[in-house]
Amino acid sequence: MFVSRFLAIWSLGLLVPAPLHARGPIPGRAIGKDTAPAEPRITFNSVHVDGPYIAMTFDDGPSAKLTPKLLDLLATHHIKATFFVIGENVAEHPEIVARATREGHEIGNHSWSHPNFGKMSDDAVRRDLQKTDDAIRSATGTRPTLMRPPYGSITARQKKWINEEFGYRIILWNVDPLDWKRPGPAAVCNRILKATQPGSIVLSHDIHPGTIAAMAPTLDQLEAKGFKFVTVSELIALARPEMPKSPPDKRANVPLASGAPLLTSKVVLAAPHQ
Ligand SMILES: [Zn+2]
Repeated sequence: MFVSRFLAIWSLGLLVPAPLHARGPIPGRAIGKDTAPAEPRITFNSVHVDGPYIAMTFDDGPSAKLTPKLLDLLATHHIKATFFVIGENVAEHPEIVARATREGHEIGNHSWSHPNFGKMSDDAVRRDLQKTDDAIRSATGTRPTLMRPPYGSITARQKKWINEEFGYRIILWNVDPLDWKRPGPAAVCNRILKATQPGSIVLSHDIHPGTIAAMAPTLDQLEAKGFKFVTVSELIALARPEMPKSPPDKRANVPLASGAPLLTSKVVLAAPHQ
């Protein structure tokens, strides 16, 4: 059932790809008749979905040494991920970003040099995002439609004008294994497995050897639990209305059974990543 629904949505996406790449404000999301917000949703920590879909995201690369290893692993699993890249790293290794795009992964803007947007002037943020956007387009041939602010640091006002000017959705996360503290591959793996729910956006970094080492067992075990991997834009396209009739805490521990519909339970971890 999920597969057919997913394929139907995927097909629609293939038929009308142009708006995804258009510059300018993102059109309002079809959240549902009862819950449609007055303002289009532009920020996502997770997505309410009707199946076991999750998005793995990797920040701060590309790394010349580690990102190709991760791409090899993702290819063997036939998993599509999303990379929030640093502009200066893209300029240094455009071929890695080009490869990621060729292999079906999504590329998002994670700033030029990882500054704290929340403390910067609009002009400085604008220049930083534009420079990175240009580097991504130069490497891949397409502009990104997603942005993740370094440290998750961004004001509500910045979100709004960045969405209006760049057309970006602002992507945060709801699963954070704190891999930048280098706790070891086993801890990274266990933290991701414990916190990931349908609709989760999982944060980690493809610049730490321990994270790359953690990914083989992490992906194996997420697959064994029945999770399906999509890019962040695909996850957003799969968004379904929230159904408030059941308490979310009861749903959080329902084990994944293949083919069984599941609701998400939002897991919000406060600690910003580095
Ligand atoms: Zn980062």
